[in-house]
Amino acid sequence: MTNGTSAENFCAAVEAVLDDRFRETLAEAERQGVFPREVLARLGAAGVFADKWAGGYRFQLAKLVGLHTALGAACSGGVGVGVSLHDSALAVLYRFAGSDHLRSLRADATAGTAVLCIGVSEETGGSDLQAVRTTAVRDGNGYVLTGAKAFVSLSNVADFALVLARCVENGDDHRPGNLGLFALPLTSASVGKPYDKLGANSLDTAPIEFDTWLPDEALLGRPGTGLAAITWGLTHERLSIAAQISGACGRVLGLTVARMMRREQFGKPLFGHQALRLRVAELQARVDMLRLALQGVATTEQIDVRTAAGLKVTAARLGQEVVGECLHIFGGAGYLTAETPLAGWWQDMRLSRIGSGTDEVLWELVAAGMKPDFNEYEALFGQADHRRG
Ligand SMILES: Cc1cc2nc3c(=O)[nH]c(=O)nc-3n(C[C@H](O)[C@H](O)[C@H](O)COP(=O)(O)OP(=O)(O)OC[C@H]3O[C@@H](n4cnc5c(N)ncnc54)[C@H](O)[C@@H]3O)c2cc1C
Repeated sequence: MTNGTSAENFCAAVEAVLDDRFRETLAEAERQGVFPREVLARLGAAGVFADKWAGGYRFQLAKLVGLHTALGAACSGGVGVGVSLHDSALAVLYRFAGSDHLRSLRADATAGTAVLCIGVSEETGGSDLQAVRTTAVRDGNGYVLTGAKAFVSLSNVADFALVLARCVENGDDHRPGNLGLFALPLTSASVGKPYDKLGANSLDTAPIEFDTWLPDEALLGRPGTGLAAITWGLTHERLSIAAQISGACGRVLGLTVARMMRREQFGKPLFGHQALRLRVAELQARVDMLRLALQGVATTEQIDVRTAAGLKVTAARLGQEVVGECLHIFGGAGYLTAETPLAGWWQDMRLSRIGSGTDEVLWELVAAGMKPDFNEYEALFGQADHRRG
């Protein structure tokens, strides 16, 4: 497999799609509260997904960072998250699709003619994915998939959802960890009414229910590998979100500094007031560090679960702070939805601390990878420790 065009050419192709028409589509999607399939169709037709995934699952991370930073800089909110969910479902298909059926679905999704979404969270299992109650009961050359997913973004417009289920073989549904990931056609599911949400209006999110038979070809990987498969997709999603936040923060800070230089209070521009200037300077420095960290990730070979978790949670907390402070610096106008988009962006940003893993779940992943330095510890504190012990 080739690796497609250079990252620079790839980013130019992305920018060509994020034009005035894209911005109009975003605004309309926010008003209607429906994710616009047209965005995925345009990215697909422009060859963006084909180029990004040209190297298969060992794709260039620079392209992930480039695509999602650009979406973030366009302040695409719910639409950006929707694109990253489709793209992350593609990540799973590129790594785990083993049947002609799944490879054909992957080709259509790469072209942007099929839309993918992810159905993992349930009433009983949001953070704790091992607790999912959806079952896949062995039946002939396939499985009967029965269950309900509480939050499935894009389910109203998507063609297939990747659904995590507990595989039940020989009537034994008590085997822990026997999770499987299935491509469920949404024509076989009942999609509920989209939720009213705090923000990200264009990311229509609804519950789904299903009780349907799926052939073996719909299973990604083998029974028991479902958690690994979805973790791969979620890791992709977390890096994408971090990149979107980096892009969004860069744009919001640029607008805020312009505002601070234009607006005067107490006889000088807001930027002339040290308290405000230093506050945005600190945020700018931290946003630069996030951007540079993502550039560093872009030079590495492969996605890393803990790095992605740490970056996403750090970015999400920073993003919330940046947009909140910028809203504050816009003063009353920042709070007025008819005057500035800051309030809407602040509401959109809040989702990033919950979706694709909350702060706490991601910190747990980071904590699990921390390594104690017992040698150095013994050398420095060993004797004192022994005296206490
Ligand atoms: C707008 C929106 C769109 C979404 N889209 C999708 C989608 O497309 N597909 C999908 O599968 N899911 C989706 N989700 C679901 C989302 O991923 C979950 O809401 C999220 O993972 C949290 O799960 P939960 O809601 O069940 O909260 P819970 O797991 O009940 O957690 C509640 C709180 O407890 C904390 N907590 C839980 N366990 C621990 C622990 N061990 N230690 C410390 N704190 C803990 C959590 O961090 C959280 O703050 C969406 C959610 C929203 C709001």
